[in-house]
Amino acid sequence: MTPAEARGLVVEASHALAAAGQGDMVWGHVAVRDPDGRGIWIKAPGWGLEEVRDDRLQLVSYQAEVLIGDGTAHKECHIHLEVLRASPEVHCTVHTHAVSAIAFAALDMPLLPLSHEGALFAGEDVPRFRETGGLVSTPELGKKLAGAPAALMPKHGLVAAGHTAAAAVMHAVLLDSACAVQLRSQAAGRTVVHSDVTEARAKRAQCWPDSQLEAGYRYLVRQAAATLDVIS
Ligand SMILES: [Zn+2]
Repeated sequence: MTPAEARGLVVEASHALAAAGQGDMVWGHVAVRDPDGRGIWIKAPGWGLEEVRDDRLQLVSYQAEVLIGDGTAHKECHIHLEVLRASPEVHCTVHTHAVSAIAFAALDMPLLPLSHEGALFAGEDVPRFRETGGLVSTPELGKKLAGAPAALMPKHGLVAAGHTAAAAVMHAVLLDSACAVQLRSQAAGRTVVHSDVTEARAKRAQCWPDSQLEAGYRYLVRQAAATLDVIS
């Protein structure tokens, strides 16, 4: 991958997340590892996910310095810097303020495999970041977010990671969808039927191989192009 391709992925993945409804005005971001090892490519502060384009990106070093691009770095760039620093296999990270994830995290209940999306965690509960409900504005806090395909950040949002942009975006989308399904189920009554661990593990492999993550991601990219005012 070239730096130009990494930049293109940040633009595309940001639009895909916007199409999935994970935008929160100008908050939330996608980062892609710089293939030359200089840091991360991320949108500049002040732009919404659907507004991201090539000339609105920054290259931010692992010391949180802006090397290329305008303005200061996002206060929460440490989420991406530390997850990518700790996980060589990860190439893309996502942080959003997805509404269902925040609402579900407030219940402090296990996330159950009620649906295909809920099988993402193969029958285990979703990890939760409990250090703070405020901004993840230091490397020390960022380090605590490494190690899972996706995690809830109670009182704040979610974080997701993947070896491709498609995987990172889809992990964020699947987590938020699983939370939405469980919120709706629990609002209607007692949740009774869900996969056991054996079925959830099988569904994780069956429903979410790379090919399916890529297919879902491509759909979102097409939706973004069709429905958003994309200037890229
Ligand atoms: Zn945030």
